[in-house]
Amino acid sequence: MEVLDQLQRPLRDLRISVTDKCNFRCTYCMPAEIFGPDYPFLKRDELLSFEELERVTTLFVEKLGVKKVRITGGEPLMRKNLPELISKLSAIPGVEDIAMTTNGSLLPKYAIELKDAGLKRVSISLDSLHDEIFGNINGKGVTVQTVLDGIDAAAEAGLQVKINMVVKKGMNENEIVPMAKFFREKGHILRFIEFMDVGNTNQWKLDDVYPKKQIIEDINKVMPLEPIAPNYVGEVATRYRYIGTEEEIGLISSVSDAFCSSCNRARLSADGKLYTCLFATKGHDIRTPLRSDLSDEEVSSHLSDLWIRRKDRYSEERSELTINREKVEMSRIGG
Ligand code: SAM
Ligand code: SF4
Ligand code: SF4
Repeated sequence: MEVLDQLQRPLRDLRISVTDKCNFRCTYCMPAEIFGPDYPFLKRDELLSFEELERVTTLFVEKLGVKKVRITGGEPLMRKNLPELISKLSAIPGVEDIAMTTNGSLLPKYAIELKDAGLKRVSISLDSLHDEIFGNINGKGVTVQTVLDGIDAAAEAGLQVKINMVVKKGMNENEIVPMAKFFREKGHILRFIEFMDVGNTNQWKLDDVYPKKQIIEDINKVMPLEPIAPNYVGEVATRYRYIGTEEEIGLISSVSDAFCSSCNRARLSADGKLYTCLFATKGHDIRTPLRSDLSDEEVSSHLSDLWIRRKDRYSEERSELTINREKVEMSRIGG
């Protein structure tokens, strides 16, 4: 089953945020001044339950064509009993891939359970190899070693590991080459993410973006690179390999090089709102239909209608947009 949106894009990739809470306060995502002790995080009964998530994911797979599921947050491992949800979702026929994005801090505790539950891959975020820089970025003084321990725990548990590094000018561009060298040696693919204007709280300015082209130039000077073909249509990261090796890096350049025409993702926030674009102003409430007595057919036809109406292409329009529109926060939909 396949449903196409207004720009003829299918839905393949469902990203599920399971909590809006996080044990970090990354400056570009959940700045501590805003996400303080009084911040109104979602309450338990506002979150979609594991049963609701299982039902809605099954409908997305059966009726709309989703094949890949990614669990995110906030910090997904802050959600109680998360491996139980992974077991439920990985058992849905038609889910070909199930992955998670995490800050890695809780992986030493959960990696084996997650793998046993059916998780295949993790993307672990790390923006610097220096404690001082990293501690400032994560807003909690968490050490680099904490995340490296999480990376090792995931690899030892048999999970495929990729590393995500957000690059922001003035924050960590000097860490690009050391991170590239370090993870090349360690044998994990490193992906550089341009600082994006998600949400309204991270004071984003175009001047703060350290563009993909520059990242490639920096690495190329020290370790020559060559481009490689995408793994599949719609792959978000542009891939490069160190010449003469099989080792590669990826670049996710939502700002300098938009990829909306092949965007096949939908995002579900922890409180059950469906966002058809990372930069959407408004989510569509799925929780109310899930908690009413609608049949599976009725819920899935509602989901299809939402996808069919989709015409988002924010990154391609960014430069034409003059008004500063309200957008959903990253910690609500998880990137
Ligand atoms: N807490 C988990 C983590 O940090 O991996 C999952 C959620 S986090 C919102 C998902 C990814 O989005 C992380 O790799 C994070 O670095 C990235 N991210 C957050 N805010 C961003 C921004 N403004 N621009 C680019 N990437 C961002
Ligand atoms: Fe938390 Fe991830 Fe956002 Fe950092 S990027 S504050 S770890 S949700
Ligand atoms: Fe997809 Fe929206 Fe990002 Fe474009 S801006 S690639 S439509 S999420």
